[in-house]
Amino acid sequence: MSKLKGKVALVTGASRGIGAAIAKRLSADGANVAITYAKDATAASAVVKAIEANGGKAVAIQADAADAAAVKNAVEKAVATLGPLDILVNNAGTAIPKKFEDTTLEELDRVIDINIRGVFVTTQAALKHMNDGGRIIIIGSCVGERMMTPGLVPYSATKGAVKMFAQGLSREVGSRGITVNNIQPGPIDTDLNPAAGDWASPQKAATALNRYGHVDEVAALVAFVAGPESSYITGANLTVDGGTNA
Ligand code: NDP
Repeated sequence: MSKLKGKVALVTGASRGIGAAIAKRLSADGANVAITYAKDATAASAVVKAIEANGGKAVAIQADAADAAAVKNAVEKAVATLGPLDILVNNAGTAIPKKFEDTTLEELDRVIDINIRGVFVTTQAALKHMNDGGRIIIIGSCVGERMMTPGLVPYSATKGAVKMFAQGLSREVGSRGITVNNIQPGPIDTDLNPAAGDWASPQKAATALNRYGHVDEVAALVAFVAGPESSYITGANLTVDGGTNA
């Protein structure tokens, strides 16, 4: 497949989990891919090596999504290495599951800084270097629209915020042919949300398919939205949640 041949993509938080699957899939579809990560340089380097082993081109850049200066530098480095951007996937995100009343100010700030401010800062930096006809994709969550379990109050609020961010921004960049879409996964088996974890049973039960999703099932939707066939989809919230929000 080469529907993204010649395109340049930046995927944040892509050393593991959903982000790593997205980076590999965009590369398999022909894109050159820059990835960011927060801590695990070895894991990020393994993603780059896997892409290169399949004949792709990739670069890994350390940048905590909560650090605005680091994020801006990462975008500049990605562009300097691979060229102007065609695709931005704002994937970096985190959750600190606990009762809202027990959540500390530091924990609130961390979730907000990564899941909202990080998306804003990354997108602003990327837009300066994005070709017309580009694609901005945000990895929100099905809990940004509906909530069925306790313990994720600030997290779900941040995912609701990026939903409206995508809708609002789509109105500003449409004149350049740039689309902005929010992809909302349901429970996906990763380190953040292991299918075998304590939190898994109610999440699995809430799906219509009675199972967790696989990272590749999210990456497949991202690849479609990043590709030429999605040209008339913008400001949309697309769930890939096994029917959780049905
Ligand atoms: P993981 O925790 O499994 O992986 C997170 C990835 O993001 C790692 O590569 C990690 O790099 C990186 N990362 C973490 N914090 C930061 C940061 N501050 N700055 C930059 N990179 C960072 O998460 P998932 O793959 O499960 O989640 C990815 C996205 O999908 C998130 O936005 C999450 O909210 C969303 N999502 C996930 C769902 C799920 O069920 N898994 C469901 C719905 C949405 P490093 O190892 O270097 O820290």
